[in-house]
Amino acid sequence: MQKKYRAAVLAFLAALLLVGHLGARLARAVPAFSFAAEQKCIYLTFDDGPSTVVTNRVLDILAEENVKATFFIVGAQIDGREETLRRAVAEGHTLGVHSDTHRYPLIYASDRALLDDIRSCAEHIRAVTGVTPRVYRFPGGGVHRTAQRKLVEREGYRIVDWNAGCGDEEIAGADAARLLEEAKRTSAGKNRVVFLSHDSPHHKETAAALPQIIAYFREQGYEFRAF
Ligand SMILES: [Zn+2]
Repeated sequence: MQKKYRAAVLAFLAALLLVGHLGARLARAVPAFSFAAEQKCIYLTFDDGPSTVVTNRVLDILAEENVKATFFIVGAQIDGREETLRRAVAEGHTLGVHSDTHRYPLIYASDRALLDDIRSCAEHIRAVTGVTPRVYRFPGGGVHRTAQRKLVEREGYRIVDWNAGCGDEEIAGADAARLLEEAKRTSAGKNRVVFLSHDSPHHKETAAALPQIIAYFREQGYEFRAF
């Protein structure tokens, strides 16, 4: 009888430990963006802007197509283009922090440098638009920056990577047709697509390809979303 009792107590204690362990894990968990989804959806994202011609052309097309997108902003690009940034907000798009300088040696010099870069860019966006950005994209990509991801998440940002794109930075001299082809290739078989493209000044072909890129994903049954 006593032995039985002891076994029950031990089982109870083991159960308590397990629940406590799971609880602690849940409390520590950071809400992460998942690329898994049952329903087809696409998040169009534009990095390195704003620029005068390309960003406004992109905004024209998004308005015509009634699609909302996310723009990861470079603070140093804002001066002289404040109206473009305000236009993006007024038309319902999301602004995120990309970098203040986009100069890798400066940004990644230390944790302090990274946070200063983020805070400075966020403050610039806030001063011009009144919007406090809540999403972040690492300059040059951040999939392997494990320690720095925690830092950025503690700063209150959701980190947005990508799993498809039009290759407008990678494929030298690509025309609109080639960018569309790359969009199809990189998104094949993916239900939830976070789509990388750029709206800095030399990306006129990205804007030229955008109507066909939107048409393609629409035909494939994707719903367009912004972060
Ligand atoms: Zn960039």
